[in-house]
Amino acid sequence: MNKIHILTLILFSTMCLFNACKNDDDDMAGLSCEEYHWEYTGEEAPDTWNTCFLDCGGQDQSPVNINVSDTSPDAGLTTLELDYKDVPIEVLNNGHTIEFEHEAGSTFRLNGVDYNLLQFHFHTLSEHTVNGNHFPMEVHLVHQDPATGNLAVIGIFFEEGNENAFLASFDDDLPTAADEHYSSEDLVNATDLLPSDLGYYTYDGSLTTPPCSEVVTWFVLKMPIEASASQIQQMHDILHDNYRPVQDLNGRVIRESI
Ligand SMILES: [Zn+2]
Repeated sequence: MNKIHILTLILFSTMCLFNACKNDDDDMAGLSCEEYHWEYTGEEAPDTWNTCFLDCGGQDQSPVNINVSDTSPDAGLTTLELDYKDVPIEVLNNGHTIEFEHEAGSTFRLNGVDYNLLQFHFHTLSEHTVNGNHFPMEVHLVHQDPATGNLAVIGIFFEEGNENAFLASFDDDLPTAADEHYSSEDLVNATDLLPSDLGYYTYDGSLTTPPCSEVVTWFVLKMPIEASASQIQQMHDILHDNYRPVQDLNGRVIRESI
């Protein structure tokens, strides 16, 4: 091997140290993106999600903190038009949350479009915060525009109080481990999850889990609903802290229905 070859070898070895040996720039903590399974803690915690899911580093991310003195009251925001039907219970633990798989036929009418209620799921603690404070739990009702695929998600906070009758209809049977499933012919109606006042905050944001797509119009209800301390504890024992930290607004305005 002559001197030029040795020099070339050293040069490539040095480059290798700094970047050339990474797998397609996807490498992190020794994992490629094929092996990356996002989590809420550890090496695959939320601050690493954007390594393999670029949208998670976007400018319009969710959740956000709602500072009530900075919201913009808007008389043009209309009452939520929800048409939820009785459906049998279908609950899945997908390893990140407890998800209620909703039968087709229930809708959220928004700007003349019927968004279909696909599923709802739970986070402990809440993902959105109000004046910097978490609630102990938040449910997300996910609706989709069948034409565009865009989403309208209603977020409802839980506070500790009386037993929640809707949750009580299946919380004896919550699937505690990933991929476990529970179903029942008993009928429930998601209307029973709603607070008596549907006033809301709204802003443009994203999925709060990878791939963090910025396709979500958020409707976060101002009035929390109640669940008992044991119901909240039971959900937290299964989900642990499955909430993404709040993201920067980056100039977005949170409008408030009045
Ligand atoms: Zn969610």
